[in-house]
Amino acid sequence: MTNISELASFLTHLHEKHRSNDEGEVATYIPELGKANPDHFGISMVTADGEEFSVGDVDQEFTIQSICKPLAFLMALEQHGRDKTLSHVGIEPSGDAFNSVELCPKVKRPFNPMVNAGAIATASLIKGVSAEAGVTAFVDCLSKAAGRPLRVDELVFASEASTGNRNRAIAYLLRNFDVIDEHVDHTLHQYFAQCSVLVNCRDLAAIGATLANVGENPQTHTEVFDAFCVRDALAAMFTCGMYDYAGEWAFRVGVPAKSGVAGGIMAVVNRQLGLAVYSPRLDERGNSVRGIKVCADLSDEFGLHAFDCTNFGSSLLRTL
Ligand code: GLU
Repeated sequence: MTNISELASFLTHLHEKHRSNDEGEVATYIPELGKANPDHFGISMVTADGEEFSVGDVDQEFTIQSICKPLAFLMALEQHGRDKTLSHVGIEPSGDAFNSVELCPKVKRPFNPMVNAGAIATASLIKGVSAEAGVTAFVDCLSKAAGRPLRVDELVFASEASTGNRNRAIAYLLRNFDVIDEHVDHTLHQYFAQCSVLVNCRDLAAIGATLANVGENPQTHTEVFDAFCVRDALAAMFTCGMYDYAGEWAFRVGVPAKSGVAGGIMAVVNRQLGLAVYSPRLDERGNSVRGIKVCADLSDEFGLHAFDCTNFGSSLLRTL
């Protein structure tokens, strides 16, 4: 049986073990992201009963980037239901780069909500009556899941907007096929703002724990998300959440997760915990190098893989 001090000391051990790894590069294609300190490294875990374990630079803020995508998908499902949402965005892995300017050729809609095309389609579904209303609703929802007020980083937002021509191309492709409505700029505003929400590791772990706890923040006991929509969003994370590493991630780590180009990873162990790692050096697929290693080690050590066969169906952490 795992006790709390054993878990805390294992996180400290992982931080020590991986902090000297300086492989990978900080993303620079959005100029503002290139200013991140490559050495920052934080690990946080929040259990489904609200205990937190954190080590390293866990209060350092960074932008959520693509980790916004499953959360926006979840909100679209809540607001529009499954059928309507899935008529705008599919649920199949694409096998192509996250920023591909493409739709699924058979049905002329984005492959899934974790690639930019799908995320822009879901941003269109949840944008508000005004540009600011939609962003405020999104930030408020994430703030409830994180347990503290969050905000958009205006510098990153401006940097995204001024360099986001590929996303503009995707949005007009979506418009051409009626996947999004005529308010293309409004949709892009929503998408760029969603990517630019500032979080720290502790926030991401709390958001992950809210998903693990089927939609209720386990620290504040606020009902944030609909449980059935959480299930759908976790399924999309499981199959498509880690860029072109999604299959190998499912194989090696075996939990739903989403990463972002600022260097965050949020992983969810259903009914058990949310895990977050922040380390901005990315591998060639766009995932945090240290983040992948920390999650893989934790999964191995505590039998977190969805198909784990060492704990006979009761993962060690469940006994916490
Ligand atoms: N804002 C980023 C983009 O659309 C998101 C990238 C990411 O984290 O994958 O390019």
